[in-house]
Parts: sequence; C-alpha cells; structure tokens
Amino acid sequence: MKIDLPDNSIIAEKETAHNDQLFSELKELYCLLEHEVSLINPRCNKCGMCGNFGEYDHVLYASSVEVDYVTKNVSVHDFDISRDVCPFLKNDLCSIRNFRMLSCRAFYCDERHKDETQSIHEKYHRLIKTLYNKYHLEWEYSPFLPQLKRFKSNTLKNGNIILPPDI
Ligand code: SF4
Repeated sequence: MKIDLPDNSIIAEKETAHNDQLFSELKELYCLLEHEVSLINPRCNKCGMCGNFGEYDHVLYASSVEVDYVTKNVSVHDFDISRDVCPFLKNDLCSIRNFRMLSCRAFYCDERHKDETQSIHEKYHRLIKTLYNKYHLEWEYSPFLPQLKRFKSNTLKNGNIILPPDI
C-alpha cells in the first residue's frame, strides 16, 4: 500500500500561515498592553537595568511563543550566556523595542508604578496563556537567555519552530 506523505512545501505553507496568525494575535495583545502602559506613563531611566540581569540580580522569564516571535523578526548575534546580559541591550537601551516580550514591556524601574505594571503583567500573562490553549501549544515559560540560544539555533536549522498539532 502506498502512503502519500505530505509535500514539504505544503507543510511549510501551513506552518507559516499558522505562525502568522498566532503572531498577529500576539501583536494585538502587545498593542493593547502598550496602550494600558501609556495611560500610566511610567518613566524609563535609561539605566540598562532591564537587560543587565546579573548586575541587578534578576532573571527575565518569557513564553516560548514570544521568544520565537523575536527570533523570527530580528537577527540574533552570537552571545555569551554566562555574561548574563541581554544581547539586545545597546548603550543601556533596548534595540528591539517593537519585538520585546511581555516581561520587558511591563517592566519599569520607575518605583511609583510597580503595582500597576505588575497587574498589567499578570493580565497579559494570562492572555498569552490563552493563545497557547487556542493553538494547542505546550505552555513554556522559562528564563529568556537559554530559550533565546535554543530558538536561535533551531531557527537557523529549521526556519520555523512552532508547529500546529495537525501537521
Ligand atoms: S529585550 Fe530589550 S527590554 Fe527586554 S531585557 Fe533585552 S534590552 Fe531589555
């Protein structure tokens, strides 16, 4: 019996359409989030705290869909994970503002608005999680730098990472 295997180009097309739809919903969530943050108008001190993880003793977490979204839209140069610094931090400013993750968008060193930005973070964290359910993806929320390394090398190998279950 002959088994018809799916054509690779059809798989790639379905995969791209799936990711486009998912990323467009993610972008909509980011727009809503940015609007809510703009109403509070927290200050960015341009201190580089967000990306100097080791120096400021914090770990940036991100969902895998968001890290995938970054790697599909910006080139990621080789970086040394042991430095514990975000590779997108340039002169203490974020160089990928349009593509940065939820935790970056809701993080401000402005202490006056900590509670509000925290509740915005929680709200959009839940909403991003609903995207995983909608697209039948396995939830992953883990430290950003190791994920970035992994997605970077997978993207180089495969082009796309997130596959819908029916492919
Ligand atoms: S992606 Fe941008 S905002 Fe987020 S930690 Fe890196 S430099 Fe900071």
